[in-house]
Amino acid sequence: MLETTTGPAAPVFLSPEMLEEPEPVRGCDECGSLARGRDAEKDDPSRRTDLNILMRRHFRKH
Ligand SMILES: [Zn+2]
Repeated sequence: MLETTTGPAAPVFLSPEMLEEPEPVRGCDECGSLARGRDAEKDDPSRRTDLNILMRRHFRKH
């Protein structure tokens, strides 16, 4: 009588890319300031994610 075949209907998926934090590029001021901001948001994962997104977006301008 157990129904184990169906999980949650709409799991929230984060791609591995989103979970992995981008590394700031050495010598780039903007990367550095984004990385410092990220360090300051240790306790706030959603802010960190925002900063990671900003950093990835900024990487395209290198
Ligand atoms: Zn940079």
